[in-house]
Amino acid sequence: MAVLYKLDDWLAHGVVAGFTDREGGVSRSPYDSFNLGLHVGDSQEDVLSNRAIIAKTIDSVPQHFVFAKQVHGNRAWHVGKKEVGKGAFSMDDAIEDADALVTMEKGVPLIILSADCAPVLFAGRDQKVVGAAHAGWRGATSGIITSTMTMMVDLGVSPEALQVAIGPTIRGCCYEVDEPVAEAVRETYRRLSVHQGEALIPSVKKPGHFMLDIPTLIREELASLGVASEHVHDTGICTHCDERFFSHRRENGYTGRQGAFIYLK
Ligand SMILES: [Zn+2]
Repeated sequence: MAVLYKLDDWLAHGVVAGFTDREGGVSRSPYDSFNLGLHVGDSQEDVLSNRAIIAKTIDSVPQHFVFAKQVHGNRAWHVGKKEVGKGAFSMDDAIEDADALVTMEKGVPLIILSADCAPVLFAGRDQKVVGAAHAGWRGATSGIITSTMTMMVDLGVSPEALQVAIGPTIRGCCYEVDEPVAEAVRETYRRLSVHQGEALIPSVKKPGHFMLDIPTLIREELASLGVASEHVHDTGICTHCDERFFSHRRENGYTGRQGAFIYLK
């Protein structure tokens, strides 16, 4: 089954959203089997076959998908009618330099690709705006969560009316980082005026290193922006622990990408 985690309670409110795993596709090793990324060296034909499978599964068509050229940055892009289908069949026309997509268009699935970085989905309770962000440590510390939320708030959603879902990502159990990354996290806490953040724990195995839990950092940022903790849903899945998922770190960089998807029905 390609879609591991479907947000069924969101579906009840007119939003189709969820996260895929690596099973049930046609790609061969090391992309086996449900790789959705065209930029990782996999056969284009196989990736497009996988995209056709997910389209059918979520009652859409690949022609309506929107992908970005994700760069671990902090830029969100407002997807309108003219962006529909961008990146669906080729990386060449994917939306440039964007790590979050936001739309008010109906029937336009926004797709974020990842293999350890956190995919984060956003839906306004009034079901008029949805968003999807890609947040690894670089994106999370450079403000991708804030820029996605700012765009959604500008489009009329109040933070209190936002529902957020954090997908499969590498977590504090597995994500050892060095001092420069730790300093970027501390700097993020200073930016958010969070005094005692809990995302960063000193490593017991490797002095001077830290275990970073990106979902905790994301939750702390969301809280500082006014999103209620009971509106933040977390899959709790670690891509590095759980072999049903692609993990960039576990596979030494040679692997596929799972997808997070969201659209307004
Ligand atoms: Zn883990």
